[in-house]
Amino acid sequence: MSTNEDKLKTLIGHAKEYGYVFPSSEIYDGLSATYDYGPYGVELKNNIRRYWWEAMTKLNGNIVGLDAAIFMHPTTWKASGHVDAFNDPLIDNKDSKKRYRADVLLEEHIAKYADKIEKEVEKGRKKFGEAFDEAQFRATNPNVKRAQERIDAVEGRMKAALEANDLVALRQLILDEEIKCPISGTANWTEVRQFNLMFATELGSVSGESSTIYLRPETAQGIFVNFLNVQKSARMKIPFGIAQTGKAFRNEIVARQFIFRMREFEQMEMQFFVKPGTEMEWYNTWKEKRIAWHKALGLPAENYRFHDHIKLAHYANAACDIEFKFPMGFKELEGIHSRTDFDLGNHEKYSGKKLRYFDTETNESYVPYVVETSIGLDRMFLAVLSAAFQVEQLPNGETRDVLRIPAPLAPVKVAVLPLVKKDGLPEKARAIIDTLKLDHNCQYDDKDSIGKRYRRQDAIGTPYCITVDHETLTTDTVTIRERDSMAQERVAISELPRIVGEKVDLRGLLRKL
Ligand code: ATP
Repeated sequence: MSTNEDKLKTLIGHAKEYGYVFPSSEIYDGLSATYDYGPYGVELKNNIRRYWWEAMTKLNGNIVGLDAAIFMHPTTWKASGHVDAFNDPLIDNKDSKKRYRADVLLEEHIAKYADKIEKEVEKGRKKFGEAFDEAQFRATNPNVKRAQERIDAVEGRMKAALEANDLVALRQLILDEEIKCPISGTANWTEVRQFNLMFATELGSVSGESSTIYLRPETAQGIFVNFLNVQKSARMKIPFGIAQTGKAFRNEIVARQFIFRMREFEQMEMQFFVKPGTEMEWYNTWKEKRIAWHKALGLPAENYRFHDHIKLAHYANAACDIEFKFPMGFKELEGIHSRTDFDLGNHEKYSGKKLRYFDTETNESYVPYVVETSIGLDRMFLAVLSAAFQVEQLPNGETRDVLRIPAPLAPVKVAVLPLVKKDGLPEKARAIIDTLKLDHNCQYDDKDSIGKRYRRQDAIGTPYCITVDHETLTTDTVTIRERDSMAQERVAISELPRIVGEKVDLRGLLRKL
């Protein structure tokens, strides 16, 4: 097993044991790629959502919220293009009977060439030392050039095939590149077929074509159809944005890699409405704002990169992803798309209602352009959890499992631990919790040795442990232990709200933006 798979497996085990994520309906052996969030998981998820929501709506006077229904009128999905174009090309290996997305097979194949290039560059760096000129090396090294030519050739053919919807060409490219099924090791592939990712269901008790409705595959359309309701009721002037979080559903061909790709997931989307012609400026602004939101968390900066789309979606004139280094490698975490007037324009067409903005300064009326930022809450959860999880070697030879979750996102902020279960220490500990619990999630624990209790809190990522001992009763002081450094300090109880608040308050993160 590869170390990446090992890492993900360990993380899944930890997430289950410590109440973050459980397999769904586990007593019935689970349901594939469906997960439930446990007591700590739900807190982390809520905190991430709150960080996103407040960064969007509190920090931007021109962004307001919305909570649209999951069900929408079926014509919505005709207008949005999802009925006709929300397809993935699927291909089966006849020997292993495993199903793949044809475009993903090709992208993974391209990534292998890209890996080769990076290895060559590393070799060059070692060989030439100080004198290494990376740009020149990339431009002239024959191995790098050859791999880059292969990437360009495969990407070119793939883009052409996807854009022309040419499934035969897509299959031919897989055959020409001799891509094999990782399970069977053969290239015995079926035809490529299109598969629509929307879940369909029936509305009410009458069956028939007209009552088919879909579970929304993205939250964005609820924003578009409410564009004028929001603009008028909240008296918004362009440029302005509408933010929304909520469940979305996609019948993914291959759902795997834990909570990275699920069939039911949660999105946090913001549609920003701008004057046509200004969209590239806003696209760049939102790229910067979104990466700043991620970086403020303090997870390693090298875990993030931008990736421009090869194939633009049917609605976009520019699009990129923020990719994150998950345990299984760099993968999409968030999409930033310039969606033009595609959605509002089509909703006008299909509904026969005007969805225009009247600019009182120029006396013009137009269909606004849209720049969208779209991030999966579950993927963000996985990003935080995977970067936070560490098995750390301690000086005394022991190890500890620790979740170095950014403190403002941690599920429990403070654990208060009486050294012994008598002499009034438990009562004192509970009194301390009473002074903190309105501001922070606190936990009381008096079971097992203090060392074991520290380990339990490390494993769920609690930033602070406060220990109440006999000295506390006479001096009103406690020991406060910090999760990451494990440093302990004796402080006055009266100081606790300040010390804890400084580090765990969400406002600390928002101030950085
Ligand atoms: P992918 O290429 O990984 O399928 P996508 O490009 O289709 O993703 P978008 O339509 O841009 O994704 O959706 C926006 C965000 O929603 C993604 O960046 C991702 O974080 C999240 N997301 C999309 N599909 C899933 C899924 N099946 N499970 C969990 N999160 C998802």
